[in-house]
Amino acid sequence: MITTDIEFIQECLTRGEIVGLPTETVYGLAANIFDEQAIARIFQTKNRPNSNPLIVHVPSYEHARDLVKFFPPKAEHLAKYFWPGSLTLILPKQAHVLDAVTASQPRVAIRIPNHPIALQLLEKLAFPLAAPSANPYNRISPTSAQQVDFYFPDIHTLDGGECTAGLESTILSFEEDEVVLLRHGAISVSDIERQVGRILNRTSHSESPNSPGRNKKHYSPICDLIVTYEPLFMLSAVQEKKVGILWYDEVKIESQKVHINRVLAPTSSLQEAARNLFKYLHQMEQMGLDLIIVERLPDQGLGRTINDRLERASVK
Ligand code: AMP
Ligand code: MG
Repeated sequence: MITTDIEFIQECLTRGEIVGLPTETVYGLAANIFDEQAIARIFQTKNRPNSNPLIVHVPSYEHARDLVKFFPPKAEHLAKYFWPGSLTLILPKQAHVLDAVTASQPRVAIRIPNHPIALQLLEKLAFPLAAPSANPYNRISPTSAQQVDFYFPDIHTLDGGECTAGLESTILSFEEDEVVLLRHGAISVSDIERQVGRILNRTSHSESPNSPGRNKKHYSPICDLIVTYEPLFMLSAVQEKKVGILWYDEVKIESQKVHINRVLAPTSSLQEAARNLFKYLHQMEQMGLDLIIVERLPDQGLGRTINDRLERASVK
């Protein structure tokens, strides 16, 4: 069920329900971080393994301080520069942060979402919200309230319009003086490196098999997906009957073999591509295609994040 009533959603959360939450990245499935049962319900509803920790959403830097032992200097700088925004920081947790939220790890993942309605709600609540993406485990993340409602019609979803970023947050951790990238996301590595210099890249799945955003297979449509710089060559090579092509900035050729063409970014903007990616994948998945061929994006800025998502979506 979709609603625009913030007070109603506040009441639902306060009595221990889980709700669909708009953020600028993707919609979340949100619950009170101090309510063990509500947190358990998030994992059950998503069918997410308990070993995968959740991101905590707070309305201010001070709220984040209340949950962690300290901010390393570079973490403080990044928080003050990018928050509210699509950057999640992994920081040493205080004892009152539940093990269920962090999957028993000594650190907690935190961010301030850059979404007016999410912020309004968080400021009204007496507790922060844990909120992983509002999709069943391994399915495409939702970027609209309608998409959350499609997956979970029985829960109340707060409608905050279409997500403006359209990709999950970038995740960083801190080791001594180093900043470590754990997941590519809606804030590009180059933007982060402009603030703190070179960062280490540990996005390889093998280092942490239990983190869904870092699993080799993730973000998948139900049908097969191939990502390639040469969609037409791929089209000539495949036998599938019902094929859709998702192009970067223009349809390069119309072919009888293609059931549907979609263009991610008619203006060639990578931000526009990010906003449309999950929406179009979800739409194409609903058409009962056998195969989606996606044109690979330029491997820079947000293009790296999008290519990372597509590679994970293409793993069978
Ligand atoms: P999401 O499914 O978008 O909410 O992403 C949650 C991801 O954040 C997890 O899959 C982990 O990769 C990462 N994460 C959250 N909490 C922690 C933590 N305490 N330590 C390490 N990684 C974490
Ligand atoms: Mg997710």
